[in-house]
Amino acid sequence: MTRVSTATTITGITSRVLDLPLPSEFRPAWGRGSVQTTFFMTLVEVHTEGGIVGVTAAEARSEVAVAIDRFVTPHLLGRDAAAPEQLAPIFNDAEILGPPVYCMEVALWDIAGKAAGMPVAKMWGQNSDRVPVYCATGEVRSAERRVEDCHRILDEGFRAVKLRFHSDDPRDDIDVVEALRKEFGERLAIMVDANQAGLAPGFGGHLQWDFHTALEIALELERLGVTWLEEPLPRSDYGGLRRLRDRLGTLQLAGGENNHGLHEFKVLIDHGCYDVLQPDAVLSEGVYQLRKIAAVAEAAGLLMAPHTWTNGIGLLANLHLVASIPNASWFEFPHDPPGWPASALSQMLVEKPWIDRDGCLVVPDQPGFGFGLDEELIEHYTVERTG
Ligand SMILES: [Mg+2]
Repeated sequence: MTRVSTATTITGITSRVLDLPLPSEFRPAWGRGSVQTTFFMTLVEVHTEGGIVGVTAAEARSEVAVAIDRFVTPHLLGRDAAAPEQLAPIFNDAEILGPPVYCMEVALWDIAGKAAGMPVAKMWGQNSDRVPVYCATGEVRSAERRVEDCHRILDEGFRAVKLRFHSDDPRDDIDVVEALRKEFGERLAIMVDANQAGLAPGFGGHLQWDFHTALEIALELERLGVTWLEEPLPRSDYGGLRRLRDRLGTLQLAGGENNHGLHEFKVLIDHGCYDVLQPDAVLSEGVYQLRKIAAVAEAAGLLMAPHTWTNGIGLLANLHLVASIPNASWFEFPHDPPGWPASALSQMLVEKPWIDRDGCLVVPDQPGFGFGLDEELIEHYTVERTG
């Protein structure tokens, strides 16, 4: 096939690995025993003939930059960035050989939007221009401390909070939910994340729930009016998730951030594992492929609430996606000061996403995904370059 060069023809791909500081120590519930003072991201720029640059970012360090350089760049050079559907299979195939590179589809849609002069959400049929968010916490804290935190986040404008369940005795975590209900009644929607779907290797002492533990906790959470329980069982325990869901009434089951590929989400939907699907545009599948998952979910009566705890660029890509679909649920907004305030995730951006007075995130109305880069900060924290 002869390819004619156009303004959106890809001429080069460059990656920078950033090691970004956190304002103080952060103890992620999902990384038992670990203390984080910085986080890594790989910022990727796709350059085109006409000068438009598409930007994306992976949640990782050099392994993704190397995978893009080896398995993606050779197949993208000379191709039209504004034709993402032609290129999406390259990202699926790359995962056979290396870490996921699904974030690359974000850069292509960023170029397509900029070339068309339209925000991506609008190109995809904009269903809303702002999305209600929940405040996603990341640490395990005492009931007293979480009550204090939730007074602050309600003042900030949030209407919902997500807690982590990682204590040795899950009863201690349930006590936190009970304390919040007692203090705030129905003023605060509560979600719970158990992170049981799968862990990064190397974190000893993780308590893996069996089916009966998951059921017992789920029934308690249902009694307490919790909105959803996230990742109560391993990510491929399709039968267990379905059996658990069958035992529940008002409590929704959520999950999917650790599942990959359009077809695996089809399996999750067909098995009836979840009420709320949580794929992430930089972890699980290409951002437009997630929109196809959203359509299958819509037909099955399910909701979408993408995982967003990667970086601010991933968060905005997921935001455009949910703004374009009718079956969006609460949107994840990571915010757990002092270690991980919302600004930490987006420090490389000129404008840091923040909620409006109704606890919603407004979808940027600039072309593409609608963010600008703080080049000075990025240069300061760049630790590696590729391409
Ligand atoms: Mg989660």
